[in-house]
Amino acid sequence: MQKLLAIGNEILSQVKLNVRLLDVTQNAMPLLYSAFRQCYSSEFAGDIFDESKKDSSNKLANFIRETLSSGHESPLEHVKFTFAIEGISRALTHQLVRHRMASYSQQSQRYVRENDLDYIIPPSIEADKVMRNEFTRIISEIQTSYNKIIGIFKEKGIDGEIANQDARFILPQAAESKIVVTMNCRELLHFFEERCCTRAQWEIRNLANEMLRICQREMPPIFSRAGAKCIRLGYCPEGTDRTCGKYPSKEEVLGRK
Ligand SMILES: Cc1cc2nc3c(=O)[nH]c(=O)nc-3n(C[C@H](O)[C@H](O)[C@H](O)COP(=O)(O)OP(=O)(O)OC[C@H]3O[C@@H](n4cnc5c(N)ncnc54)[C@H](O)[C@@H]3O)c2cc1C
Repeated sequence: MQKLLAIGNEILSQVKLNVRLLDVTQNAMPLLYSAFRQCYSSEFAGDIFDESKKDSSNKLANFIRETLSSGHESPLEHVKFTFAIEGISRALTHQLVRHRMASYSQQSQRYVRENDLDYIIPPSIEADKVMRNEFTRIISEIQTSYNKIIGIFKEKGIDGEIANQDARFILPQAAESKIVVTMNCRELLHFFEERCCTRAQWEIRNLANEMLRICQREMPPIFSRAGAKCIRLGYCPEGTDRTCGKYPSKEEVLGRK
């Protein structure tokens, strides 16, 4: 989604989050079931897999839920979700790629020239007229300077990624990015625990909540009780001065500091 804004000589585009599920591992429930069962069975997972495809989805879901609740999570690594994500800032992707148990393919600022600098504006800044004007003014100036640097490179006979790779140094963290992310279910649960928490930064929290909504729709036995870590723990581990108050503090529940 785009909102066009003309400032000075530049047409700027403010963009919004868009998350699309590209793919999920085929036969995910029989696959998870046979991986979990292999740990406790003398049978071969290949035979369990074939048989489980004929079983009711309820039977598989109940077994998986029960085994998961015991803390046995490694079979979740066999099932992956791939998302295409756009309308996010470079500030967000910098945080996202800190999650190492995942695969990423991100739009390059080296190969893709920023002819029209799409940007993300924080809601707190957008809501305030003075801050919003200041924000869009500087984005517009950055675009002008970027174009100027690219122009000077061209005059020197330098173009393409060689020019882009140095001109991009003046681009802001607000610059929009697009990324393809693949995470397995175990990593997704961890990602949601960290990033759905109200303590997480608003933009990555919005992304995590949207990914969680999609995962819950696709695979309720795994994700119906997923979210910030307080849901699993039954208390907030963040400390009394930082808690959102949804859950009691760690001290209240465990009775110690
Ligand atoms: C609210 C919040 C504030 C943050 N603030 C900062 C900050 O100020 N500065 C900063 O630098 N970062 C910050 N981070 C990022 C944070 O430190 C982690 O880098 C990020 O959350 C990724 O988490 P992870 O390492 O647990 O996950 P992943 O990389 O997704 O890994 C998942 C799990 O795998 C295991 N694992 C992965 N790699 C290894 C390894 N090499 N060795 C052992 N075990 C491993 C760990 O158990 C890990 O939890 C913040 C994160 C949050 C949620």
